[in-house]
Amino acid sequence: MHFEYNEKTTRLAEQLTAFMDKHVYPIEQEYGTLFSDAHNQWRTPKVMEELKQKARAEGLWNLFMPEEYKPYGAGLTNLEYAPLCEIMGRVLFSSEIFNCSAPDTGNMEVLAKYGSSEQQEAWLKPLLEGQIRSAFAMTEPDVASCDATNIETSIRRDGDNYVINGRKWYISGAMNENCKILIVMGKTDPDAARHQQQSQILVPIETPGVTIVRPMSAMNMLDEPVGHAEIIFDNVKVPVENIILGEGRGFEVAQGRLGPGRIHHCMRLIGCAQRALDMACERVNQRVAFGKPLAKQQSVRESIAQMHCDIEQARLLTMKAADQMDRHGNKVAKDLIAAIKIVAPKMACRVIDEAIQMFGAMGTSQDAPLAAMYAYARTVRLADGPDQVHMMQLGRSLIEKKAR
Ligand SMILES: Cc1cc2nc3c(=O)[nH]c(=O)nc-3n(C[C@H](O)[C@H](O)[C@H](O)COP(=O)(O)OP(=O)(O)OC[C@H]3O[C@@H](n4cnc5c(N)ncnc54)[C@H](O)[C@@H]3O)c2cc1C
Repeated sequence: MHFEYNEKTTRLAEQLTAFMDKHVYPIEQEYGTLFSDAHNQWRTPKVMEELKQKARAEGLWNLFMPEEYKPYGAGLTNLEYAPLCEIMGRVLFSSEIFNCSAPDTGNMEVLAKYGSSEQQEAWLKPLLEGQIRSAFAMTEPDVASCDATNIETSIRRDGDNYVINGRKWYISGAMNENCKILIVMGKTDPDAARHQQQSQILVPIETPGVTIVRPMSAMNMLDEPVGHAEIIFDNVKVPVENIILGEGRGFEVAQGRLGPGRIHHCMRLIGCAQRALDMACERVNQRVAFGKPLAKQQSVRESIAQMHCDIEQARLLTMKAADQMDRHGNKVAKDLIAAIKIVAPKMACRVIDEAIQMFGAMGTSQDAPLAAMYAYARTVRLADGPDQVHMMQLGRSLIEKKAR
C-alpha cells in the first residue's frame, strides 16, 4: 500500500482546498444564521445553490460515486475519494455543495446499483443533477431499530399498488423543502424467513398519507435546513413498480448502501477532527494565561500530540478499509469498515472535546464550529449502527475466522 496520494487525488485535493478557502470558510459563520426564522428554516439558502453551480462548473461534483458507476460520477476509487471527503468534512454543510452529502450519496448508490431504468430516470437523474434531495426511512420509535429485523412498518400488496403504514423518526434530510423522495424500509412478508421479511420501496414525499409530524433534534440541534423528521405513513399507496430490486430483498439493498455510507461518515469526521486540531494549534499560540502562551504548557503540548496521534491512526485505518473495498469489494472489507466505524466517531469526539477545552467558553459558542462538530461526531456513534452493534458483529466475525 502506498501512503502518498496519486496525481489525480492530489490535483483534486488542491482544487477542493482552494474552493473551500475562497468560497466556503468565509461564509461558514454566517451560514448558520440563515435559518433563524420559521419561513427559512427548511429552505436551502440561495448561497448553497450558487455554490453548487460554481462547484459543478469546476468539475467538483458527484466525487463520491464509485468508479464502477463512472458514467454517473467522477470515477474515483474509495481510496481516491477519502482525502477529498475529509476536506469537505472540515465544514459541516459543505458536502452538499459538491453533491456529496448523506443521505443522498447512499440513496444515489442504491439507485445506481439496484434501481430499474424507470426508477433511475425518475429519481437518480435529478439527484445526480442536485435538483432534488432524498431521505432513507428505516428507524422507528417503537422498536430497537439497531436490529433492522425489528422494523415493523407494513408494505402490503393491494393489486397494482403497495399500501404502507408505519411511523419513522430521525429521517435525515426529510425536513428540507427540496426532499422529494423517500426510500422506505418495511415488511412485505412478516411470515417469511427473518432476513426476507423486509423490502425497500420508493415513496414520493408528496404522496397522500405521508405526514411530517415534527423535526427531531439531535444533541439539541435541529440541523437546519436538512433536519431529521418524524414521519407517519397512513395508508400510503404507491405503484408496485416502486419496489427496489424486489420483495423480501430489503437487507440486500441495505448492505449495498451501508458500507460506503459508513466510511464516508468516518472520512468526514477525520476532517472535523483535523480542523479542530488545526484550530487548537492556532489558539494555544495566541492565548496567554499565567504569564505565557498556552502553547508553552507541557499538558497542552501533550494533548496536541495525542490529538495528532489519534487522527493519524484513524486516517490510516480509513485508508486501509477504503483500499480493501476497492480491491476486494465491500463484503470482504466489512470487518475493516466495522473497525473504522467503531474508531472514527469516538476519536472525533475525543479530539473535538479537547479542542473545545483549549478554546475555553468560545469553544462551546456560536462563534466557533466546534460545538456543532462535536454534536455531529457524537450522533454518528448511533447513526448507521451504534458502536455496540459494530463491535458485536466485528467480534463475532473475528472469532469465527479463528475457529475455522
Ligand atoms: C442524527 C441522527 C441521524 C439519523 N439519521 C437516520 C436516517 O436518516 N434514517 C434512519 O432510518 N435512521 C436514522 N437515524 C437513526 C439511527 O440509525 C438509529 O438511532 C440507530 O440505528 C439505533 O437505533 P435506535 O435509536 O432505535 O436504538 P436502539 O436500537 O434502541 O439501541 C439503543 C442502544 O442499545 C445498545 N445496544 C444495541 N445492541 C447492543 C448489543 N448487541 N450489545 C450491547 N448494547 C447494544 C446500543 O448502545 C444502542 O445505542 C439517525 C440517528 C441520529 C441520531
